[in-house]
Amino acid sequence: MKTIGLIGGMSWESTVTYYQVINETVKRELGGLHSARCVLYSVDFDEIERCQSAGDWDKSAEILTRAARALERAGADFIVICTNTMHKVAPEVGRQVSIPILHIADMTAVELKKAGVGTVGLLGTKYTMQQDFYKAVLQRSGIEVLTPSEADMEEVNRVIYEELCVGILSAQSKEKYLSVIAELARRGAQGIILGCTEIGLLIRQSDTEIPLFDTALIHARQAALRAIRD
Ligand code: GLU
Repeated sequence: MKTIGLIGGMSWESTVTYYQVINETVKRELGGLHSARCVLYSVDFDEIERCQSAGDWDKSAEILTRAARALERAGADFIVICTNTMHKVAPEVGRQVSIPILHIADMTAVELKKAGVGTVGLLGTKYTMQQDFYKAVLQRSGIEVLTPSEADMEEVNRVIYEELCVGILSAQSKEKYLSVIAELARRGAQGIILGCTEIGLLIRQSDTEIPLFDTALIHARQAALRAIRD
């Protein structure tokens, strides 16, 4: 079995999901007492968020590079960055280590293709929804990406940082997210990417008819399968 190197803590609320899903997947596939071989480097999210809001992506790339190198030294065979947003600096980080990074948007694109989704709605932080680093990966796979209105993006983003990343799950925010999802579906989305690793804590497939693509689940499952199959 390969060793998975996880860069977590962004936020730790969703890193818990990764650890659980990776181990559940290994258990399901291998049975018995099997569990995942993995190393976790968990950062201080306050420091990362300050870099994001100041637009200091170079500094955040340095922090994640330090983490990636430590994971490589610890014996990781590949790296999983447990957040969508920080994939903005994945190319820089990837150049500083000799082990591969399993890109969250690549894995999500594969799932969308498998499900035959050509037009998708994207929910995530404002960086993920507004900038190109994430959407471009999907578009390169021939997937059309719809994002919410400006006002809705603001609210979706606010809920991530002020609620989900600090463990608050509110009925009001859930209702708001479901209305944003319904509007994206009305505009033609055939599926919705939960493109922030905490959104799956608030919204589940049972809450809506439209197919959901939860990036934390997809990424964690693929990491586990890669560790045991490749
Ligand atoms: N975990 C979130 C994501 O998947 C947001 C936190 C962050 O900014 O890294 O984008």
